[in-house]
Amino acid sequence: MFDYQAPQQLLQERIILVTGAGDGIGRAAAFSFAAKGATVILLGRTLSKLEDTYDAIETAGYPQPAIYPLNLESAAQAEYAGLAQILGREFGQLHGLLHNAALLGQRTPLGNYDPAMWNQVMQVNVNASFMLTQELLPLLTIPVDASVLFTSSGVGRVGKAYWGAYGVSKFATEGLAQILAQELEKTSNIRVNVINPGATQTRMRVKAYPGEDPCCNPAAADIMPLYLYLMGPDSIGTNGQSLDAQ
Ligand code: NAP
Repeated sequence: MFDYQAPQQLLQERIILVTGAGDGIGRAAAFSFAAKGATVILLGRTLSKLEDTYDAIETAGYPQPAIYPLNLESAAQAEYAGLAQILGREFGQLHGLLHNAALLGQRTPLGNYDPAMWNQVMQVNVNASFMLTQELLPLLTIPVDASVLFTSSGVGRVGKAYWGAYGVSKFATEGLAQILAQELEKTSNIRVNVINPGATQTRMRVKAYPGEDPCCNPAAADIMPLYLYLMGPDSIGTNGQSLDAQ
């Protein structure tokens, strides 16, 4: 596991948006960021799940989060622009953005891959991250430092049979992050990095590996040290890296 002990007030006064905050790793990240003092914007497609994350944060006594329901598969540029406008009005700036939401799609040979499913996966895993980042960049340039995190996978670094659009989307995510990191390095306060969570007990993992005993993988809460490190100011100067949470 990545070795980092986050100070209690690491993210105090910071505003951080997490996509896919209603389940799995996104939910754990939103809770961990709030536990370190951040005001977290919980973005996702299933309102009831976002409300569960909201309740967990509120019950724990952490800063009151905000909920922003959005389906990344159908959202158009104007909806991302609308989100940026609301965040600008409510918070005035953004210190962190975690691109976490993703679709697994099919596990099948490319020869059989359903083109409609291919487009869905690319829309959620790549195009939505691009559009969201583009619209939120102006708010991210306002604080003294800001962190953008993308989520990759082992199958986004080495091509593996049957991972289809998901694998390709994670390669694209690595590329998107590298390009953005270089573009912003000398011209902004924003650092851009990628996290590979590694095998983690979530709904997606069970779907991808139905025969696996889930108990052998860490829980989402266990892989948070790297998320906290890269989201907080201790990682200032780290840019364009793709790091393993485990
Ligand atoms: P998960 O439990 O399936 O959670 C995925 C999240 O993405 C859910 O909150 C889901 O919302 C959201 N989402 C999916 N489609 C969406 C859409 N169209 N609009 C808005 N939100 C959407 O998966 P996870 O395992 O936590 O995965 C989190 C990230 O880690 C992903 O990027 C994944 O590729 C990566 N990852 C995971 C593992 C692993 O072993 N778990 C390994 C490598 C990489 P709903 O809850 O509403 O469906």
